[in-house]
Amino acid sequence: MVLKNKCFNCNKIANWVRYTQFSGNHLFCNYHAKIENDFLKCDSYKYWDKLKMKSKKSKQELYVNEIAKRRRKITKYQKYWDKLERELQKKCKHINLTKIPGANIGNYDPSADSYWYDFECYDCGKKWREKQ
Ligand SMILES: [Zn+2]
Ligand SMILES: [Zn+2]
Repeated sequence: MVLKNKCFNCNKIANWVRYTQFSGNHLFCNYHAKIENDFLKCDSYKYWDKLKMKSKKSKQELYVNEIAKRRRKITKYQKYWDKLERELQKKCKHINLTKIPGANIGNYDPSADSYWYDFECYDCGKKWREKQ
């Protein structure tokens, strides 16, 4: 059941809910809850509970904060793994290499033409470029 967070008697934000077995659930603000003569009396037919103060807006904020928090955590781990990868790449002797020639030719100014090799190490994953 979806409960609107407004008091049953007025339009204030509800702080209390009374669940009843036969006449439904009612929401009350602090004032209207306390003037109910069965306030906080619980038995097998009814049950009072305090509502958590969460508006839709704060839920939205909570969600955004949660995303930001998780993102920061991921970034932290990424930096950590990147660091480990770089350390590994420094140790690697790059024996398992591919070497692919590349070129930028046919420029109007031929001195702007360039040739290079793209290297990639299968073992450590390092990629780099060297001039021919
Ligand atoms: Zn009220
Ligand atoms: Zn390598």
